[in-house]
Amino acid sequence: MKKDTHPAYHDTTIHCACGAEIPTGSTKKEIRVEICSKCHPFYTGKQKLVDSAGRIERFRKKYEKFQQKANPGE
Ligand SMILES: [Zn+2]
Repeated sequence: MKKDTHPAYHDTTIHCACGAEIPTGSTKKEIRVEICSKCHPFYTGKQKLVDSAGRIERFRKKYEKFQQKANPGE
């Protein structure tokens, strides 16, 4: 008879580089990742925020010029 070749499946914790720990199940005892659902830009929206911040900055500069024109006496 063949021995059971399936590795044991047990509770595991995924350790992310951001410090997040995600409980899961795996054949491995410990999993280390560099990006997870907590720090990935797709989930955090950080990438979007950085992008929109640049747009706000550009808009603000335009608006400052407009204000200077609107108040020529000062
Ligand atoms: Zn992470």
